[in-house]
Amino acid sequence: MNLKREIESRLEQLNSYALDPKGGLTRLLYTKEWKETQDHLRNEALSKGYDVQYDSIGNLYITLPGSSEEVILVGSHIDTVCQGGKLDGQFGIVSGLIALDYLKSKEGQPKKTIRVVSLAEEEGSRFPYTFWGSKNTTNSANIEEVEHLVDNQGVNFMDAMRNCGFSYSKEKNHLFNNVSSFLEVHIEQGQILEKEKIQIGLVTDIVGQKRYSVTVQGQANHAGTTPMHYRQDALLASSILVQKVNELARSISSTMVATVGKMEIFPNSSNVVAQEVQFTIDLRHTNVSELERYEREIKEEFDAISTQQDVKYSMKKYMDGKPVKLDESLLKTIKDVCRKHNISYKEMISGAGHDAQIFAPLVQTALVFVPSIGGISHNPSENTAIEDLETGVKVLIESLKKLAY
Ligand SMILES: [Zn+2]
Repeated sequence: MNLKREIESRLEQLNSYALDPKGGLTRLLYTKEWKETQDHLRNEALSKGYDVQYDSIGNLYITLPGSSEEVILVGSHIDTVCQGGKLDGQFGIVSGLIALDYLKSKEGQPKKTIRVVSLAEEEGSRFPYTFWGSKNTTNSANIEEVEHLVDNQGVNFMDAMRNCGFSYSKEKNHLFNNVSSFLEVHIEQGQILEKEKIQIGLVTDIVGQKRYSVTVQGQANHAGTTPMHYRQDALLASSILVQKVNELARSISSTMVATVGKMEIFPNSSNVVAQEVQFTIDLRHTNVSELERYEREIKEEFDAISTQQDVKYSMKKYMDGKPVKLDESLLKTIKDVCRKHNISYKEMISGAGHDAQIFAPLVQTALVFVPSIGGISHNPSENTAIEDLETGVKVLIESLKKLAY
């Protein structure tokens, strides 16, 4: 089997269902593009003689049965962001399917069952809900959180699901029975591997993420007639707060990241002192107590700054995702594979969320990164050298050989 050719042709085939005329791939949950891609994977696997099943909400499972009950699950998400790249998500599925074909032809029936999953959704790009796929695979989805959601065309989540022929079921997903481990291959979406010329990233931790919305309240006033010392300038105060958001993260840990990426100013007029400013804070780190320390200290800093600037502020947390540790023994198995085959690797943390984090609290879980050219992702120019993709697939094949045979 020529792995490079296999990777290229399979990706090209999947891309053909989701090419966005504006560039890149757009394959949003429960759209025509999404359904056609899942059905393509299904039909192809059926024609090769695999066990193929959808669960009730549209995760697709392709199984190579082993001689024992235990199941190793491999996969990633099939959905993309709007105008996303050709590797985020689907490369993890393609890797799994190539590994399945390769092992079936070269090694025959495994001891442990190997099951590839094409997860329905991870990105939250159509509806404001993430990890719908992996949460349903692992029986941890909450239907109340999605049933009233609508996309930006006003289409209801449940209707969109029904239109694709799926529906939510309260029954346990039997395709997760006996799953003992989950392996996900994914592009790094960062620049570390490329900059350091390393072939494989082995993720030890996925960061926890907290997000806040902050509102700063000052007083709108005339920009010409209000002396500087009488102002309650919400924008000036906010600019000092934003600096503190950055400074505090740096002072707590070299791997903590805090970002203010969105800001709105009212009334947003060149000749009016700002009345109100709203901004967000995105905070990420691998250690819960450091995240909590940041939250405590940023509030103290904000209290002091707002008093000094004569403004009021409020801060609301709207997301609180815990950090996740990945499995050390699986990591060791994959490390041994890399060493044996002279593949360079590096242990690293993931600053982005991944399906692996939903599986990790339940089963042994590993997340393997391949380099991203220029670190670019969620963008039509997202890319990885074919040699690096090939290495990713090889590592998966050799790891599965060790784990399942
Ligand atoms: Zn992804």
